[in-house]
Amino acid sequence: MTGRNIKMVARAVFGAGAFAGLADILEQRRRQEAGRVVFLVDDVFHDMALAAELPVGPADQLLWINVADEPHTAYVDHLTSAIRTFDGSTPAALVGIGGGSALDITKAVSVLLTNPGSSVQYQGWDLVGEPGVYHIGVPTLSGTGAEVSRTAVLIGPERKLGINSDFTVFDQVVLDPGLMRTVPGDQYFFTGMDCYIHAQESLQGTFINAFSRAYAEKALDLCREVFLERTFDRDEKMMMASYFGGISIAYSQVGACHALSYGLSFVLGIHHGVGNCIAFDVLEDYYPEGVAEFRDMLAVSGIELPRGVVRHLEGEQLDRMVAVAGRLEPLWENCLGPEWRRRMPPEKIRELYARM
Ligand code: NAD
Ligand code: ZN
Repeated sequence: MTGRNIKMVARAVFGAGAFAGLADILEQRRRQEAGRVVFLVDDVFHDMALAAELPVGPADQLLWINVADEPHTAYVDHLTSAIRTFDGSTPAALVGIGGGSALDITKAVSVLLTNPGSSVQYQGWDLVGEPGVYHIGVPTLSGTGAEVSRTAVLIGPERKLGINSDFTVFDQVVLDPGLMRTVPGDQYFFTGMDCYIHAQESLQGTFINAFSRAYAEKALDLCREVFLERTFDRDEKMMMASYFGGISIAYSQVGACHALSYGLSFVLGIHHGVGNCIAFDVLEDYYPEGVAEFRDMLAVSGIELPRGVVRHLEGEQLDRMVAVAGRLEPLWENCLGPEWRRRMPPEKIRELYARM
């Protein structure tokens, strides 16, 4: 086969109030398959109105998940075992509710429940043998594209790397922009910029084709409406931008910014959206127009970028960061072409980090 054969989300419901339809979707699922529903919900909602609106039945299992740290393989293994030992049966469905972290945890748990061993074994490309448990994604924060992508990004003992598999893709997503109302302003910006940067890296990359371009251009336009024009219906638009940005990279790849951001996240625990913004700000030689527009967006939103986060690092930690970033070969190749090693030797990566 010449092209990539992309697995898409099977069903999507969109619109303010769509979340109220989750009960019906689960009802249909329960008719097809006996068993409990397991809810994996970001614990930020524990004391919010959404907690009372969860359609949790008497036999179901509700797990509040904590995303203070980005998802680690050990946490995914722990949650999988809590689900396995609940009553010994395989659930009929999982429902993940939250931002990229909660969605990725749900995707990973889905395949871990039907495949043996630890999540560490599946970090990589197409290492999952068996389909996962039917899973539904309900994003409450938009930008990562985790609701549509085939990756569940995890920090393991050795590396930050996704479980990339067709089996992680959600069977159903519920896109309700009303769920984004409670997102704090700076978080809204940083995760939104993840989408903006996905679109830029996709469009400026060497892997781009008409399929990816179509989705990335729309994602970019929507991000401009949200972050430059301050449109009145920004949550609807941001939710669709994230969706389109996610589909775009399914056929292309992210680039230099994501490679550097992964290093920041692995060594310093800096969250993905923030790390992307810190990294993008030093990449004006590679994405000149994108970085200029990004700085306008920062100014319009009144966001202060964390500065001096790497400068104090030395020796082994910095070496590790350079190594983590340098290993992400497809990202560099997308950005710089097949000759990327010549244009981006480790010393150059080190220089870029020194500016952050
Ligand atoms: P997140 O899920 O880590 O959440 C960030 C913060 O926002 C958390 O404190 C969370 O509790 C809070 N939050 C979420 N929704 C909220 C709401 N409605 N109201 C109030 N607070 C809310 O952030 P994210 O940026 O969406 O996800 C980052 C993760 O996604 C990283 O682990 C990154 O590696 C991963 N990622 C995955 C993909 C993919 O394709 N799978 C792509 C990019 C990034
Ligand atoms: Zn990203």
